[in-house]
Amino acid sequence: MIEQTLRDQYLEAMGIERWVSRDRTPGTPAQQAVPGGGVAGSAVGGVGGISALDWPDLESRVARCTRCALHETRTRTVFGTGNRAAEWMIVGEAPGADEDRQGEPFVGRAGQLLTAMLAAIGFRREEVYITNILKCRPPGNRDPLPDEVACCHDYLERQVELVGPGLILVVGRIAAHNLLQTDLPIGRLRGRVHRYGKAGIPLVVTYHPAYLLRSPLEKRKSWEDLQLAQKAHRGL
Ligand code: URA
Repeated sequence: MIEQTLRDQYLEAMGIERWVSRDRTPGTPAQQAVPGGGVAGSAVGGVGGISALDWPDLESRVARCTRCALHETRTRTVFGTGNRAAEWMIVGEAPGADEDRQGEPFVGRAGQLLTAMLAAIGFRREEVYITNILKCRPPGNRDPLPDEVACCHDYLERQVELVGPGLILVVGRIAAHNLLQTDLPIGRLRGRVHRYGKAGIPLVVTYHPAYLLRSPLEKRKSWEDLQLAQKAHRGL
């Protein structure tokens, strides 16, 4: 867990005034996940037996993936990072230029803000598991195409199964639309607790940190989302 003063600094970085709760319960540290958080069956779940792979095989399958055209333009695949038994799983959209170069999700400016957001609720980056719906960078940072998302879907699904998180935090409209199979505006998706897959994992949607960098006034709402996620994780 992050020290109080450090957390205050992160809140400041998020543009949020120091928050003092009467009922301050720090963010739950990562724990050994309870296995068995199965998710809904995938349309492509059977292809190549992804649903049976362990972490090393899944990671190497993704590294060699040629399912869609993005493999032709990627520098590196971006599999996911963090605690593979995390209580919190963060799902974003797709790698950008920095992530494509480094092979790690959320390492650019948006990633720095995501790290600050996590710190504001008491998590170090390494305590959560961070990944994206797409494992390769769409050229020019364009939106992922539906067939690209479909090609990657069972990789993400297997990651969710293996981590078995107690809470999924989805950042951004595109990831939310794909995970929740809806096209409702993000404003209608945030502010409530959804359920993901057969295991009904609590899922909370918030704004993408790249959007928050462009629209800092919305940071207040994302802070509310993080607090909602904490409550959902505690089963409140
Ligand atoms: N934006 C995302 O959605 N994911 C990343 O990994 C980086 C930027």
